[in-house]
Amino acid sequence: MKKLLILIIALLPLYASAQHNPEVLRSPVAQAATRPDIVLPVVNGFNIYKADLHTHSIYSDADVTPALRVREAFYDGLDAIAITEHIEYRRIEPKMLKFLKGYTGGKALKAENNDVIREPGTERGILADLNYPVAEAVKESKKWGVLVIPGAEITREPVKIGHFNALFTKDNNAIYDPDALQSIRNARKQGAIIQHNHPGWRRTSNAKTEFEKQAYSEGLIDGVEVANGGSLYPNIIDRAREENLYVASNTDIHITTAEYYRLKNQLRNMTLIFAKECTLKGLREGLEAKRTLAYAGGYIMGGEQLLKDLFLASIKWEVIGTEKKGARKVLVTNCYSLPFEYKTSKNAYPIVLAPGQSVLHTVAKDKDLNLTVTSMLCGDGANPKVKLVVK
Ligand SMILES: [Zn+2]
Ligand SMILES: [Zn+2]
Repeated sequence: MKKLLILIIALLPLYASAQHNPEVLRSPVAQAATRPDIVLPVVNGFNIYKADLHTHSIYSDADVTPALRVREAFYDGLDAIAITEHIEYRRIEPKMLKFLKGYTGGKALKAENNDVIREPGTERGILADLNYPVAEAVKESKKWGVLVIPGAEITREPVKIGHFNALFTKDNNAIYDPDALQSIRNARKQGAIIQHNHPGWRRTSNAKTEFEKQAYSEGLIDGVEVANGGSLYPNIIDRAREENLYVASNTDIHITTAEYYRLKNQLRNMTLIFAKECTLKGLREGLEAKRTLAYAGGYIMGGEQLLKDLFLASIKWEVIGTEKKGARKVLVTNCYSLPFEYKTSKNAYPIVLAPGQSVLHTVAKDKDLNLTVTSMLCGDGANPKVKLVVK
């Protein structure tokens, strides 16, 4: 027994060196991918869910599959995405048909009815199963904890008519009609929420078009994008207030969000939905109650009160010292994941308060800290003002 023990002790260094063979060091590439989580406060008793209500895949005119859109959303820190293919065209299809020519004796097939915008006059719409891309995304979503909202984009001439997302749809194949307004009515008939997309795209005026006036008068529009990709439409916040629409900020992504946002170290556009639960029912309730804000490129846009509520729930402030004549040193801290920028007076330099950062202010005796939050927009050129009471 003693000899065996001696043998084991003698062999231990050999065993240990085999365990530390430098040739089996792990490359960081082999490690699990991490994602930047976007942590937001509870505001007025509601959680804030991060959603992209406008995305495309290869089943209309984008570069990736719906399944990849879901994984991408997970890595971007989102809770929910809508898959919203154009119901009028699918420009990837001719390439697919070329790829398939081996199945037709070398003769390339011609894509039929793949672009109803360029070739109008058909009552049938495009010959595609527009529910399929949603189903593919839903299947993938089970693995990633990302909620998929079924949808489709009604895509017409941009100046007089425009583009409208139908969300929470039941049958995307039952939406198309040569008349755009009838398409919206068809979507509404199946219980869809309707969102006006990129309202300033290719337009020179912010005035309501005749088409929009008609759609509003029929009560067909629920929400509007105040940001779409890199385009921001602050004047449309005023429209949202007038017409009681929820505000949205979506990517309308056709390439990858890595190329458009992450490689530039930016968060992607997000519609922030204030809701009780991240389910189709829960998010729908938040949209119908118009409890949303729109995040894009460091700006947060929407109704003044909700912006103030989000700002005040995101920061904390405390007096950490005093100066001569009773002035207080007040430390303002951003406790959550969205950046803010504010001014303490009209001509002051703006202060950038990044997530997890603090700024020290000197506040005169008996005064409070009044801030204009310049990274928040509640109208065209309008910023919310908040008072931090200093005790
Ligand atoms: Zn569009
Ligand atoms: Zn789109």
